[in-house]
Amino acid sequence: MNKKPARGRPGPGVRPPITWPRGVQAALCLTFDLDAETAWISRDPENLHRLAVMSQGAYGPKVGVPLLLDFLDRHALRATFFVPGWTAERYPDVVAEVHRRGHEIGHHGYLHEPLEGRSRDEEEEILRRGVQILEGITGERPVGYRAPRYEITRETIGLLRTHGFRYASNLQDTLWPYLHPGTPALVELPTTWIFDDGPYFAYGIRPPLYRQIYPPAAVLSTWTEELRGMHAVGGAVTLILHPQFIGRPSRVVMLEALVEYARTLPGVWLTHGRELAGWVASDAAQAGTDGRPRPGPDREASPGPARRRAGPALRAAARPGTAGRARGRVLGAAARRGTAGGAGDRTPGPGARRGTVAGGADRDPGAAAWPDTAGRQAHGIAGPASGRATGGRAPASSDTSSRRRSRRS
Ligand code: ZN
Repeated sequence: MNKKPARGRPGPGVRPPITWPRGVQAALCLTFDLDAETAWISRDPENLHRLAVMSQGAYGPKVGVPLLLDFLDRHALRATFFVPGWTAERYPDVVAEVHRRGHEIGHHGYLHEPLEGRSRDEEEEILRRGVQILEGITGERPVGYRAPRYEITRETIGLLRTHGFRYASNLQDTLWPYLHPGTPALVELPTTWIFDDGPYFAYGIRPPLYRQIYPPAAVLSTWTEELRGMHAVGGAVTLILHPQFIGRPSRVVMLEALVEYARTLPGVWLTHGRELAGWVASDAAQAGTDGRPRPGPDREASPGPARRRAGPALRAAARPGTAGRARGRVLGAAARRGTAGGAGDRTPGPGARRGTVAGGADRDPGAAAWPDTAGRQAHGIAGPASGRATGGRAPASSDTSSRRRSRRS
């Protein structure tokens, strides 16, 4: 294990309350909530009899997931798919295929039912039932949990510990992952509505869900700007995507552009829930239990040297034109490409490249060592002083196939 993991590059007044792996400055965690029809049934049970409404949900597993799995393969990315038990029972082949292609399957309730007002026993029964169904398909107990609509209760954290979960991803109180107080370790991977595709794309008539449907370019603009800010403070972005919304062709193209933009920023770790939580729970991460930022160098030392220590990300953040120009290139490339493709030769992110390593990290988070300088170059991760993270050229296809081999073995 690396003895001295590098810290993120925060602003002058605060430091992240977590130590990132060496070479990492910020994380981008890809998650999908595969609600399918449950998103609509849980809003109104009568929707079960409205076939057009049901078909909106069915689009996710039928078409959205295949398009997204191809997108993830092209970029050698691994993601977490949170799946309600009902959806897994209805589409076991889809869930099995997602798992077979190297992605994590997490727990997302049974019928996407809200937990408010339920007894502890009822909540535990929903948890147990979902675990049983998902394990029956994948052969693995889920370790990640996202509550429907993020809404947990005061019982949820204790129940997750009892049932062997390692992380939850629901709360919006900070920019960095943290540990819920108590044992065994239970990580929180914070969320935010800003990075949820629902507010931009969800639309329905029964029940009325009259939101403006945003153009992909507007969402890409919001997400790249926020990602740039999160990168500057060494944060962890959790993307919360729904195959029935993000799985439209124009939005998959937009997602590709976001990933390409993320790879123009130095040290962005493209990862998924289990891998990120494995690091956060490790001793090396030194994660706190409240997610509050630590005092920055300006508050620890004299102003002169502290200013000189301000990292490249801070300086880049002070130059809006830098990110703007990079995004312009990404958008231009996406527009020229026209369809969602052509990026298969991109350097895979560290999460993807660490496919087989991550398994060990899951079992022993403390063993989640990060590549040294040579490893970073191979992974396309820039060190703290270098400019861009797109140097490496490891072929995505070989990584994907080796991941598949390792999974089958
Ligand atoms: Zn959901």
